[in-house]
Amino acid sequence: MAVFSRGCLCRGVTNSVDGRRKTASAVFLRLVAAKRSEMEDFMTDYEGLIRQAMKARENAYAPYSNFYVGAALLTNFEKDGKPLIYTGCNIENSAFSPTNCAERTAFFKAVSEGCRAFKAIAVVGGGQGAPASYTMPCGVCRQVMMEFCNPETFEIVAAISESDYQVYKLKELLPEAFGAL
Ligand SMILES: [Zn+2]
Repeated sequence: MAVFSRGCLCRGVTNSVDGRRKTASAVFLRLVAAKRSEMEDFMTDYEGLIRQAMKARENAYAPYSNFYVGAALLTNFEKDGKPLIYTGCNIENSAFSPTNCAERTAFFKAVSEGCRAFKAIAVVGGGQGAPASYTMPCGVCRQVMMEFCNPETFEIVAAISESDYQVYKLKELLPEAFGAL
């Protein structure tokens, strides 16, 4: 897992209760210093991808849990010179079981339009207002990712903000996974 917290660069070190968050890496500092194209921006620090997940979160339909989630799925493709991204939100239902997560909404939108090659997904969630903690994909969504993504390379970006996020490889979140591929 890689950890990024731009807000803490001035202090150099980020502490946390669970010990997951670490010092902002030299690699990240180089990325900030380098001039980046829009594509590189999406593929490296995920700022733009997180922004889209936050925008998608505004459409979350969560009257039962009051937990609002947005996801932005980065594909291997471009459209009009920009990275092709599918977004999703959680959509709940009074019968509960028809409820769909933000991540699967994004995946199913993409697959239903013929896209099956993905690089990363940003996930942002929480109650009303700004997220206070990282939201991780549920087990069902991880299995859906396993169906379409290379677990060695596909990245899950759990974000609190555009500058504070954790990056996991799918294989970290779904070890010893069942998969047909
Ligand atoms: Zn899920």
